[in-house]
Amino acid sequence: MALEEDATERRTVMVEQQIVARGVRDRRVIEAFLKVPRHFFVPSEFQSLAYHDSPLPIGEGQTISQPYIVALMLELLAIEPTDRILEIGTGSGYQTAILAELAKEVYSIERIETLFDRARASLGVLGYTNIFLFRGDGTKGLPQFAPYEKIIVSACAGRIYESWVEELTEGGIIVLPLEGETGQNLIRGVKKEGQLHIENYGGCIFVPLIEG
Ligand code: SAH
Repeated sequence: MALEEDATERRTVMVEQQIVARGVRDRRVIEAFLKVPRHFFVPSEFQSLAYHDSPLPIGEGQTISQPYIVALMLELLAIEPTDRILEIGTGSGYQTAILAELAKEVYSIERIETLFDRARASLGVLGYTNIFLFRGDGTKGLPQFAPYEKIIVSACAGRIYESWVEELTEGGIIVLPLEGETGQNLIRGVKKEGQLHIENYGGCIFVPLIEG
């Protein structure tokens, strides 16, 4: 119990100092970050760092993203409670849980089996009923449940795959890290009349998206 209280307090400090202080204003995003236990998704050896301002290793050469970058991406997505969301790269499942707090349904794909199994176990214990996990290559999208109002990509893509654009609703939004000539950039695309309209939100650092 004392440990859980301690985690709640550390989470409050994380939200104030890392997320609100840097300008995130979406009230629902802030509430979700206050609620979801990040320490639950971090390997035991990094527990003491679970609420630090940084990404952390989750095995298989992958990382749980820095809290602020997740908050920024979710604010850019402008999630509505009625939205169905596609997440590419489940990783630890932390962002998946935050998405489940904000949206109607979350469909998430992970290509690495051990991470997929661990995320499924963590999310199962927390009891979410609006999360649907899939193992596979997210560059192909997830056509069987399309279209999605929002798509979020958690690993840096070399390009924007046609499957993602096709699986977005008209007016839908995709947020992703994209590899460019000068490095990685955080990109938001809004689908209008079948075409993506792109805005660049500046440099970022993610693990690479791997095709296949
Ligand atoms: N938001 C996650 C970030 C995980 S890191 C978190 O906070 O834990 C990115 C994840 O994308 C890794 O788990 C990696 O295995 C996965 N990934 C990379 N390429 C992928 C692909 N083509 N399809 C699905 N998942 C992929």
